[in-house]
Amino acid sequence: MIMIKKMFGTALLLGMLFAGCGEAGKPGEKAVDMATAAPGISETDWGTADGKPVKLYTLTNVNGTTVKITNYGGIITSWVTKDKAGNLGNVVMGFDSLSSYQQASPYFGAIIGRYGNRIGKGTFAIDGTTYKLAANDGPNHLHGGPKGFDKVVWDAQPDTTGGNTSLILTYLSKDGEEGYPGNLKVKVVYTLNDGDGLVMDYSAETDKPTVVNLTNHSYFNLSGDVSNTILNHQLQVNADKYTPVDATLIPTGSMVDVTGTPFDFRTPFKIGDRIANVEGGYDHNFVLDRHSTGMELVATLYDTISGRQLEVITTEPGLQFYSGNFLNGSLKTPDGKTIVKHGALCLETQHFPDSPNKPDFPTTLLKPGEKYSTQTIYKITVRL
Ligand code: BGC
Repeated sequence: MIMIKKMFGTALLLGMLFAGCGEAGKPGEKAVDMATAAPGISETDWGTADGKPVKLYTLTNVNGTTVKITNYGGIITSWVTKDKAGNLGNVVMGFDSLSSYQQASPYFGAIIGRYGNRIGKGTFAIDGTTYKLAANDGPNHLHGGPKGFDKVVWDAQPDTTGGNTSLILTYLSKDGEEGYPGNLKVKVVYTLNDGDGLVMDYSAETDKPTVVNLTNHSYFNLSGDVSNTILNHQLQVNADKYTPVDATLIPTGSMVDVTGTPFDFRTPFKIGDRIANVEGGYDHNFVLDRHSTGMELVATLYDTISGRQLEVITTEPGLQFYSGNFLNGSLKTPDGKTIVKHGALCLETQHFPDSPNKPDFPTTLLKPGEKYSTQTIYKITVRL
């Protein structure tokens, strides 16, 4: 790894202080090691993609929680936080090099867009004009296409003003990129707060009517050890309904009551308890039981081994619960552990799949002059 780092905020101050007491000949490195334990943001060169520099940013809060994010795909590459015994562990799937992401990644930790999830047959129409997108998932379009927002280099700006520990990512998706209409200016701000929440603010504006559905695709295993599958994690989701899908995972258009089905997570259930009754495993959108248009706690995931819990708080109407069904042991964690089926899961806050073709679903249409704006917080703490 290239050892060039910049530090922002308290990390910078402490880094400079500790640099003075560093080992002779290696003051920079010593400073970096110390600085990573201090609140703030540090930055490392991580290679290039599309001829643009790629960086890896480390966000650290007062609890010593660190979240690493690269501007390649806006990917969260690791999230290290304490368990109930105070031991640190990484709770998301990720790699330690840019090339690993470029070779093969099932969207680990990435920003997904322009349209997260599937669009049936890769077609939709706006005002009588039909748009044809790539079919990159069987007959359907998935996660923005072959080169979605997960594979582009975002402009990045650390922000430590007013005590923030934020990374501001911006990207201009040009008119016609991946077949979507309109120049779309996208901004995603990640903020690690001292309550161990990672706040994700998504906004976008367009110059032609288009469809937008942004999300983050982190795969969690709260135990911090991928040798434990997520089948023992307990999940609770505030959803009275879900959207059933056809064989190609496109919603049928109906919203079905979860009562008496394996999709009833209104009270906590171990994921493994009923997964055998769901063909292929969970890969479904839940219709969140919302009471406002603001931020609401919609799901809680809990791991008894580590005592860690993940709370999902969002403005979005839907949540895709994907139980890592297509993980197949072909990928390994940086510490060499094999990522098996159900080794990790995703809880993707979003609008419903195939909304552009489902008039009864909440709209994903964005028109010029409007502002797309959503917020999600993933908060990982130890349950007391
Ligand atoms: C989808 C899965 C898909 C996965 C890709 C999820 O959001 O729901 O069907 O396989 O992303 O890794």
